Amino acid sequence: LSQREARGRVKSRLVVLAGPTAVGKGTVSTFIRENYPDVHLSVSATTRKPRPGEVDGVHYYFVDDDEFDRMIRDRELLEYATVHNQSRYGTPRPPIDAALDKGRSVLLEIDLQGARQVRAVMPEAVLVFLLPPTWEELVRRLIGRGTEDTAEQQRRLETAKVELAAQDEFDVKVVNTEVSEAAREVVDLMTLPAAPSRPS
Ligand code: 5GP
Repeated sequence: LSQREARGRVKSRLVVLAGPTAVGKGTVSTFIRENYPDVHLSVSATTRKPRPGEVDGVHYYFVDDDEFDRMIRDRELLEYATVHNQSRYGTPRPPIDAALDKGRSVLLEIDLQGARQVRAVMPEAVLVFLLPPTWEELVRRLIGRGTEDTAEQQRRLETAKVELAAQDEFDVKVVNTEVSEAAREVVDLMTLPAAPSRPS
């Protein structure tokens, strides 16, 4: 038995973390990677270029368009999407199956289109929607991180409005006020006590 099973907890779960742009999905998943080593954080493939500090195989697998096409063709991706009308992103499936087989819980940090695809192919996945404390706070975070120009910020805020409207499709909502608390709420979803077994 793994330590977790020995403590009477469920075996393994696939949790999908989605939410509007700038809500802090990346920050929450980085916090989980650094503080909860039991969780298998899926590493996506992307056609976008690495940002300073990003490491191939850790933050993403950075691939070119031909390689991304090959992964689609060979059915290596659980889901994939073009995000913000720019680069393509997809979730490699083999590492996820391997982690679940070993009894590890898996976290996917992906966009809304991807979350819907996962729901369709893996109905047992738990879909989590990360919410900002308020709309004003979301705007503040998007502008504050300073990674997009004004026109791109406006585009992303329009997208965020559409994305927020999808929150009721999700199983669980987590408000990202404090990163460590939001991370704990997400991880707790993976380690709920097992349901009492029913007599057969
Ligand atoms: P960034 O380029 O800022 O790292 O990520 C941009 C967006 O792509 C984020 O909303 C992130 O959730 C999404 N994303 C990252 N990996 C994947 C993936 O594998 N599939 C999908 N559908 N979206 C992803």
